[in-house]
Amino acid sequence: MHLLLIFLVFLLGCTAQKPLRYVPRPELTIHADTAFTPEEREVIQSASMELVSQIGVRVDVIYDLDLRKPERTFRLVRVLSVNPATAEMDKFFQAEVYGWTHPFIVPRAYIVVDRLESEGFARHVVLHELLHVLGCQHVDDPSAVLYGITNRQHMAVVLTEADRAELLRTQPEGFIR
Ligand SMILES: [Zn+2]
Repeated sequence: MHLLLIFLVFLLGCTAQKPLRYVPRPELTIHADTAFTPEEREVIQSASMELVSQIGVRVDVIYDLDLRKPERTFRLVRVLSVNPATAEMDKFFQAEVYGWTHPFIVPRAYIVVDRLESEGFARHVVLHELLHVLGCQHVDDPSAVLYGITNRQHMAVVLTEADRAELLRTQPEGFIR
């Protein structure tokens, strides 16, 4: 199998008539809550497509989340506003939170679905949390996806220069294009 691959790469190299540099396509696998509805899954899908189209990071979301099982992959959890964890995070941030990500060992991103009034709002929040899952911190640019406070007039899904700079800071070279 490996030999065949090497042969194919060799062939490609020959036809291209210049040395090929192999850059692996980055992938992110997320185990997501089975409680996400089909509509919410569509929003998650479109948020992850933003990462594919804008930075070339492929996100595979598998809806089989079992919080009792130890996993080494990322997790996306559906929560409602009526929830002890949500109340705790509201208190911590001194604001009503729409989503948050715990960075410890295996990052867990939580989406507070019933606070997200529109699809655009939900897509922005999911994309913001996915960027946290990738290791990004908040940035100072108010029009950025990674801005810490949600701007209801501007639900950013297009990465700004500040977002890209933060991604470049956190990812190994070649992870994003
Ligand atoms: Zn955040």
